[in-house]
Amino acid sequence: MPDRTPPLRAVRIEPRCPTCGKPADPKYKPFCRKRCADIDLGRWLKEGYRVPTDEAPGEEDLEDSGGGASGQRS
Ligand SMILES: [Zn+2]
Repeated sequence: MPDRTPPLRAVRIEPRCPTCGKPADPKYKPFCRKRCADIDLGRWLKEGYRVPTDEAPGEEDLEDSGGGASGQRS
C-alpha cells in the first residue's frame, strides 16, 4: 500500500468547523459560523432518526482461544 501517513509535525489542535473544515470561530464554537452550526445540527438530527442496531450478532473472534486439543506435543 503506497499510502503513507505524513509525519506528525507541528500538531496543533485547533478547533475546526465540522461542517466545512475552516477554523472555528470562538463565537460559534466549534463551528466557523452560525450557518455551519445549523447545517451540522440538521445533519445530526437526521442521523439520529436511524438507530444503528444492525450490529453483527456476537461475531466471536476465535483468534487465540488456546484450543490445542488435537496437537499433542511433548
Ligand atoms: Zn464552517
